[in-house]
Amino acid sequence: MARLPKPGLFKVVERSLLDSGWSFLHLSAPTEHPATYQVYRDERSFRVKIYIWNLSHGGGAQRPADEYRIQITGLPEVNGAQQFIPQIGGKTVILGWWDEVGVFAGFDFSFHSNPLGSSPSIQIREDALRAAHTSGFAPHNRGNGELAIAFKPNFIGAYFENLEALHKTGEVPAEIEVLREIGESPEKVADDEIERKVPSERRYALVSTKRALREAGFRDRVLTAYGHQCAMCGIQLKLLDAAHILPVNAPNSTDETRNGVALCTLHHRAFDRSFVTFDKDYKTYVDEDQAKEFSVTGHNGGLDGFRNNIRPLIILPPDKKDHPDPNFVSTANAMRGWAV
Ligand SMILES: [Zn+2]
Repeated sequence: MARLPKPGLFKVVERSLLDSGWSFLHLSAPTEHPATYQVYRDERSFRVKIYIWNLSHGGGAQRPADEYRIQITGLPEVNGAQQFIPQIGGKTVILGWWDEVGVFAGFDFSFHSNPLGSSPSIQIREDALRAAHTSGFAPHNRGNGELAIAFKPNFIGAYFENLEALHKTGEVPAEIEVLREIGESPEKVADDEIERKVPSERRYALVSTKRALREAGFRDRVLTAYGHQCAMCGIQLKLLDAAHILPVNAPNSTDETRNGVALCTLHHRAFDRSFVTFDKDYKTYVDEDQAKEFSVTGHNGGLDGFRNNIRPLIILPPDKKDHPDPNFVSTANAMRGWAV
């Protein structure tokens, strides 16, 4: 069974953050465990202290056969007992990583803040890990009131962000049910169902979990369909976004792959400000009115290179069913002010 050393485990955390659109700064030395990071995305930013171990199978004949666990080792001791030290003014995260499958388990720090017993471990059931592998996210009621959460790497930023509220839903069975439904198929859980069943202090976290899971699913599907390259210029280098053709806020926008296109950050920005687009026959355009205006105002540096870099036709996914839907393309172009 593959067990990663600590630097390998933190590498997984860091890559998972980057691949799901989050950034981070190291606040602790590379060899330290726990590690502390400042994690941020857009205007959201928080400090997080991460304890992490490999998830391993079973703990002898007395334990259930489908149990995975992290074995807590190497923590500072207070009166002979290991203890987690919380991050003051930030979040404290306890993670397990199952390397063979690529799934994290997150445990609730508030249940483990006292001095630990001898040979301490925290368990999660295999079916929760499996469910997360299939759908991206799965809560697991540990039976003592603690809710453990299994999730795929692309959810890690949203997990950190909503940590406290997500674990707290473990106190109310009806809320765990909503969380489970969100994990299974986020698009099927209506916001008003969340509003009905979840008290206001945790509503935001559940709605934002739902949104993050939908976004992660959309991003994975679109980037995979396009072979992780920009449809406009072909660049890869992990500088890619999954852009909605019909914008998220537009009526009838969907998270279907056919309403997505992989764009590098430059072309995504240009697409959003209607400087580039493509039509229903996949032909690309640069907005000549804006180009002229840039020339007049002296803001046209790099324009020739920009033009030359764009393919005459966008790169399409090999699978035809993933091609941009011509109806979405035409509607979106009209809404963005294009006459193409
Ligand atoms: Zn590009």
